[in-house]
Amino acid sequence: MGRILIVDDAAFMRMVLRQIVIEGGHQVVGEAGNGEEAISTYGKVLPDIVTMDITMPGMDGVEAVRQIISKHPTAKIIMCSAMGQKTMVIDAIKAGAKDFVVKPIQKEKLLEVLIKHL
Ligand SMILES: [Mg+2]
Repeated sequence: MGRILIVDDAAFMRMVLRQIVIEGGHQVVGEAGNGEEAISTYGKVLPDIVTMDITMPGMDGVEAVRQIISKHPTAKIIMCSAMGQKTMVIDAIKAGAKDFVVKPIQKEKLLEVLIKHL
């Protein structure tokens, strides 16, 4: 089971993700609401996997992936994207993100992706 860092600017979305992660038997080791927070929290908790939102105020998820990967090349980051964000998902994958799930997040799909990358 994995130690997961959840990044999303929407508190409701973080709650949904937290619930799924916990129901899957994983541990939530941190939460962040934007890219800057994601980077600093990543360094503190060194999670097994990050779930990363794309659109956030301040630094977005794609730039956060670039910066986390540049400091921690083995970081495993899963993008949580909305419809119509295909270009940004591709940018994130090019920057080193490992996978993506599409919102609305389906529990089974997210858990499957987490297990695949643990
Ligand atoms: Mg967002």
